[in-house]
Amino acid sequence: MSEFHALVPAAGFGARMGHELPKQYLPLAGQPLIFHALNTLCACTEITTVFVVLAPDDTLFHSYDWTCFGDKLQPLFCGGETRAASVLNGLLASELEPDDWVLVHDAARPCLTQAHLAKLIAELRGDEVGGLLAVPVADTLKRADADGRVLRTENREQLWQAQTPQMFRAGLLVQALRQCSQVTDEASAVEALGLRPRLVLGESGNFKVTYPQDLLLAELLLKEKM
Ligand code: C5P
Repeated sequence: MSEFHALVPAAGFGARMGHELPKQYLPLAGQPLIFHALNTLCACTEITTVFVVLAPDDTLFHSYDWTCFGDKLQPLFCGGETRAASVLNGLLASELEPDDWVLVHDAARPCLTQAHLAKLIAELRGDEVGGLLAVPVADTLKRADADGRVLRTENREQLWQAQTPQMFRAGLLVQALRQCSQVTDEASAVEALGLRPRLVLGESGNFKVTYPQDLLLAELLLKEKM
């Protein structure tokens, strides 16, 4: 039987936060930011292992206490230059079976709920390709010209914002990322193979902490959950 595993790329720095501490370690509700994503993934009984992919020279990870996650949490110090490289390196180091499912989740999405994680697994476990949590675009979208003026308004119908987790078979994901490394999410690499990942309706609360003000909103949402 195929198993379910999670893989959390956390080898980036998060320059847009404008902080000297890497984003994944910024304090959020009494813990480093990454703790919250790891906590949700480790608490999911369907998931066997949670791999976290760190930069080879990461000296901060071991300065925190992760013992509450036991052996389920497996750090891998093999992050790469890009998110895609970090995910590929982590997949190769994890030595999963090709048919195992992998749920790739951003370290910087602390507000993923257990309910949406369970929904993603339930909707995709019988799927041929796999897929991702996503939400329909709510705002009107403008394409800009080089002067910062509106070139045109894009039709937002059938446009979705990709989130994580993104869930694919380990073998397929390795093949996809080997062939297509210039991508900002796993689904794009799978799409480049000519496959069509399924969109599973998520919620806007599962946003990626990117700018300083996002930390405040995440803290409010986490406190509501606690
Ligand atoms: O920078 P961004 O917010 O898009 O990063 C998304 C995720 O990818 C974060 O969890 C970040 O740590 C990770 N990442 C990585 N290796 C890189 C760049 C980003 O693991 N070289």
